[in-house]
Amino acid sequence: MSAAMKKNPGGMAKLRAMSQAEWESLCDGCGRCCMHKLEDEDTGNYYATSVSCALLDCESCRCVDYENRKTRIADCIRLTPDMVQTLPWLPEDCAYRLVAEGKPLKWWHHLVSGSHETVHEAGISVRGKVEVREDQLASEDDYLAYIIGPL
Ligand code: SF4
Ligand code: SF4
Repeated sequence: MSAAMKKNPGGMAKLRAMSQAEWESLCDGCGRCCMHKLEDEDTGNYYATSVSCALLDCESCRCVDYENRKTRIADCIRLTPDMVQTLPWLPEDCAYRLVAEGKPLKWWHHLVSGSHETVHEAGISVRGKVEVREDQLASEDDYLAYIIGPL
C-alpha cells in the first residue's frame, strides 16, 4: 500500500480552486489509475495487475470514451479533491496527489516538460505494460494470474 498521504491545506485549497479545465489538464495521462488493483481483504494490502480497464487505450493511456465513462464502466472513479486524500492506491507521484500534498510536479509531467510524451518516455505510464483488458478475462479468478506486485 502507498504511504499515508501527508495533508497540506494549501495544496488542497489549490485543488479545490481549480476550474474544470485546470483539473482535467492536471492529469498526466499515465493511465495507472485505469489498471485493476486487487485488495487483500485480510491485510488491506493492494496489488498492482497488468489488467487494464476495458476502455483504456493502451497506447495513448487515455480513456477512449471519457465523457461516458461512468455509464459504461460502473466502477470507474471520478476523482475529486476529497477523494485524492482517501484513495490508498493512488500513485504517490500522481499529479493530483502531489498538488494535494503541496509538492511540485515531476519533471515528466506535461505542465513541466511541455510534452505529453515525457510521461511515457520516463516509463511512468502504462504504455507497453498492459497484458490484457478486463473484458478479455473469463472470470474474476483470472486477475490473480496478472498480479505484478504490491502497490
Ligand atoms: S494516476 Fe493520477 S495522473 Fe495518472 S492517470 Fe490517474 S489521475 Fe491521472
Ligand atoms: S472508464 Fe474510467 S477506469 Fe476505464 S479507462 Fe476510462 S477513465 Fe480509466
